Amino acid sequence: MSPAIDHVMNITERPSPVMVKGAGSWLWDRDGKRYLDFVQGWAVNCLGHSPRVVLDALAAQGARLINCSPAYYNEPMARLAELLAEASGLDQVFLCNSGAEANEGAIKLARKWGARYRGGAYEIVTMHASFHGRTLATMAASGKPGWDDIFPPKVPGFRKVPLGDLGAVADAITPATVAVMLEPIQGEAGVFAAGDEYLRALSALTRERGVLLVLDEIQTGVGRTGRFFGYQHAGVTPDIVTVGKGLGGGVPLAALVSAGRVSCFEYGDQGGTFNGNPLMAAVGCAVLETVAKKEFLDAVVANGIYLMDRLRALAAELGHGEVRGRGLLQALELRAHDAKKVSAAALDHGLLVNAPRPDTLRFMPALTVSREEIDEMLTILRKSLGEPRA
Ligand SMILES: *Cc1c(COP(=O)(O)O)cnc(C)c1O
Repeated sequence: MSPAIDHVMNITERPSPVMVKGAGSWLWDRDGKRYLDFVQGWAVNCLGHSPRVVLDALAAQGARLINCSPAYYNEPMARLAELLAEASGLDQVFLCNSGAEANEGAIKLARKWGARYRGGAYEIVTMHASFHGRTLATMAASGKPGWDDIFPPKVPGFRKVPLGDLGAVADAITPATVAVMLEPIQGEAGVFAAGDEYLRALSALTRERGVLLVLDEIQTGVGRTGRFFGYQHAGVTPDIVTVGKGLGGGVPLAALVSAGRVSCFEYGDQGGTFNGNPLMAAVGCAVLETVAKKEFLDAVVANGIYLMDRLRALAAELGHGEVRGRGLLQALELRAHDAKKVSAAALDHGLLVNAPRPDTLRFMPALTVSREEIDEMLTILRKSLGEPRA
């Protein structure tokens, strides 16, 4: 009855449970064991598992039109582009399938803009420890440790500086530079915020030097930090922003969003078979209309504060380190380099929590998570963390 797992390409270490069902903050494996899910597909299922609005959008749009080719306009494509333009303060939207594809598009658009308006400039300044995806160009853009020399030859044109060091960015910008690209909070690196002050200074610096500010909001966007976009806390507007993960609420959907004056692709420069697919776009509209509401975002802020206070209390009591993050993207620094072990113990106890660094746990619950679920997570986490420091 149950399929074997032998033919699933072995690209990452997976625990043995095979997941079969999800509802809200909960996930079940095929043996009937239940897990409280604080990973949610890496901050993807922003409304939890199988939420009503996503099911309804899939059913309604599925019965109406699933695909008509990106060569034609369709209604959900136009509507989602309009909603994203409105939410971002920007103008032009290219819908695609994954975060990496959106970032690849951002890199192409920045290079195109450089070719047309900045004398052929193409270099992009990115951050140490950043994560922008797993295509060849987005891996080259990323500052993930260990990625410097894999899959040679590397795509050229990226210059890395430490996050938070404005002087280093200023020094790295030359006539060959076309953009500065970063995540408002580095998620995969372990939840390290760029900081509002720094983002404001970067915005001013990029403007003054005539280069583009590109923000990768694939993890921080769609309400994750308590505002629709993370950059809204800082009161800046980028020239280009990328969104993914939460945008589809669990279905593959991402977007490249740009200011009108930067949107300079010519016919043939950009495309893809599934871009603007009406089924996915209809889900995106439903998710966005739910998340962008003030009451929804206010609840994310309140639950984020609740989670952070409780995590800090637990960390203090058990002798662990700092709690970082914003909204419902948070991390707990452990006193030892045993995050993988803690994450495995949590799985045994029925909690899914991710370990982005050897000493760090990351919490990315559904944005609809309840106080009771946060409390239950903390109970299981306490069991999984083991004894307090003597
Ligand atoms: C997940 C992520 C990506 C890559 O998105 P994929 O959909 O996995 O291609 C890029 N940037 C950031 C900040 C991410 O968190």
